[in-house]
Amino acid sequence: MCEFCHKHGEGKKWYLEANNYSEDLLSDLRRREFIIDFFKKPESLGKSIRRLNDLDNAPGFVRRAIIRRVSNKMKKVHYGQVVPIEEIEHIFEFVTSVARFACVCRHVTLGSEQRYCFGVSMAPQGGELARIVREIDASYLTGPNTAGIEQFSKEDALSFMRENEQEGLCHTVWTFIAPFIGGICNCDKSDCLAMRSTVTHGLPVMFRAEYVAKTDPDLCNGCRLCMRVCQFGAIGYSAALEKSLIDPRRCFGCGICRSVCTRDAISLVERSDVPAAKSLW
Ligand code: SF4
Ligand code: SF4
Repeated sequence: MCEFCHKHGEGKKWYLEANNYSEDLLSDLRRREFIIDFFKKPESLGKSIRRLNDLDNAPGFVRRAIIRRVSNKMKKVHYGQVVPIEEIEHIFEFVTSVARFACVCRHVTLGSEQRYCFGVSMAPQGGELARIVREIDASYLTGPNTAGIEQFSKEDALSFMRENEQEGLCHTVWTFIAPFIGGICNCDKSDCLAMRSTVTHGLPVMFRAEYVAKTDPDLCNGCRLCMRVCQFGAIGYSAALEKSLIDPRRCFGCGICRSVCTRDAISLVERSDVPAAKSLW
């Protein structure tokens, strides 16, 4: 179990605890202000991109100190964790509504409206979170192609996320001041700031799933489709064996490789059962 399960899940998977999605948590004024700022001022994320680039050029000891400080702060405020699609299905068993938003990261990195993010709530119609966002001037939500906040059925949201998997996007849950979970995103390294920060710049704000992928060498035919979609560089290829091999130390457990494997050669196993990966988050 990761540190979030110990802190926010009493030793169970914290993102499967209904309390962490509770509407009551939104009565906290500090949390409401954080959400308002987050959606009202997406341009502040633009500053983060410049800071990440500066971080790459900082002396080693400065870089390490900044990474530790920022990562620890984000673990309290706004962090994500990778969750495979079956865990999203479990989350959808207890949340009441699912609404799709435009992605703040892609608004900043691509300068266009891309609708890859979902708000989840224990209340109908997106609950208090959707009400807060509707009330503020979130200009990126009102672009030319927007439908504002779209209510989705859980079945349609799952089907959209399965299509995202085929494109190589990785599902993540997100806090708005921990432990409140308000969103599920579909991320990639080129467009999503948290994933870019974590994978490209080595500043972790998005953490690994409770799972690790493994291949079955008897089923793998060496087609390498899985290598093409892994955004974490976790899959290698043995020319001698003509098989793909997953490095559990690099695997984030997203399950995207599994969804493209036509031979059903990839499965997810509990991270805690894999000695090389069990303490890597
Ligand atoms: S996609 Fe499946 S069959 Fe192809 S290399 Fe990867 S594990 Fe093997
Ligand atoms: S190897 Fe791991 S990180 Fe890469 S796509 Fe598969 S599950 Fe995700």
